[in-house]
Amino acid sequence: MAVAVELNHVTKAFDTTLAVNDVSLKIEKGEFFFLLGPSGCGKSTFLRIVAGFYKPDTGELRFDDTVVNNVPPHQRNTGMVFQNYALWPHMSVAENIEYGLTLRKLEKPERQEKIARALEMVQMEDYHDRAVNTLSGGQQQRIALARALVIEPSVLLLDEPISNLDAALRQQMRDEIKQIHDRTNITTFYVTHDQVDALSMAHRMAIMQDGVIVQVGTPREVYQFPKNAFVASFIGETNFISGKVQHAANGTATIETPVGTLHSKTVYHELTQGTSVQCSIRPEALIVDSNGSSSAENRVNATVTAVNYLGRVEEYQLIAADIPLKAVHYNPGTEAKKPGDIIQLAISAEMVVPLPD
Ligand code: ATP
Repeated sequence: MAVAVELNHVTKAFDTTLAVNDVSLKIEKGEFFFLLGPSGCGKSTFLRIVAGFYKPDTGELRFDDTVVNNVPPHQRNTGMVFQNYALWPHMSVAENIEYGLTLRKLEKPERQEKIARALEMVQMEDYHDRAVNTLSGGQQQRIALARALVIEPSVLLLDEPISNLDAALRQQMRDEIKQIHDRTNITTFYVTHDQVDALSMAHRMAIMQDGVIVQVGTPREVYQFPKNAFVASFIGETNFISGKVQHAANGTATIETPVGTLHSKTVYHELTQGTSVQCSIRPEALIVDSNGSSSAENRVNATVTAVNYLGRVEEYQLIAADIPLKAVHYNPGTEAKKPGDIIQLAISAEMVVPLPD
């Protein structure tokens, strides 16, 4: 049975490093939840607290209504998948998966049945007797997942589970992990620094910086309404144009910047005249408007410094009033821009997101 996982003011320090700093968070029953942040921000420590490998210094960890601070890892019914797979190389695939079932003292026929079902879930039925050290990285990762799933955990914990795989296999595993979650509905807590993993799979995600949760939301909320400049640049790519608020009212603002006055219709912070802001504008919001036909509220002149043609999209490196910008142009036509060209960008006021400094 899946459980809800709740942390209340949880702190964990190593000497003088506050790896997890007063974190409060609730992961709902059956939710696919991501924790995302740069290296060293405290993600693994957080995961280990939930798994029971670390005890919080202060605060409370609950599985549903039960406080589990003092429950040892093997009694929490969590399944864990590590980045390096952590399989036993001298054992077969089936023996690796069987381990947790033997610990739980299940009879042989039940163990066999559960192993077969777990292998089916990760599409590795034909590898039952193979030595683990003869498997590819992707196959080992599937077995690690089967080993975690076979015990029917209340919470599935995934620590960068696919970061050792190549790009194509990563995409395939993302799809498969998502399908497995849809089928099992296990509360899943996935830790990564890969934004694509999180954006493509998460129900909700938390962004962590220096041991603190900065923002929690759905992928769409976090991408479209980042709490601050750190989140805006960590989730997806963005351009920043700094400026000062001239006027702000009713969710709109005008901002004086080196590239001219920018109008925003996406204001969700407290802004007043004179507030210093960074305007976050995603590359796809910078529209190359050669014939001036766009009705977007903002116009910026820029010089092309580099062009990267990628077939489906074309990327432009630009410079406007000494500020480097990146634009992404979908469905590039036959007319090529080249370095040195001066272009006009149209930017919708909805796509200009002023974030206080
Ligand atoms: P990465 O993405 O690189 O794995 P992370 O976000 O998982 O990083 P943690 O491993 O949780 O980060 O580490 C958070 C901070 O706590 C870091 O500054 C790290 O050096 C420190 N830390 C983690 N484990 C220990 C430990 N056992 N002893 C001392 N310091 C530790």
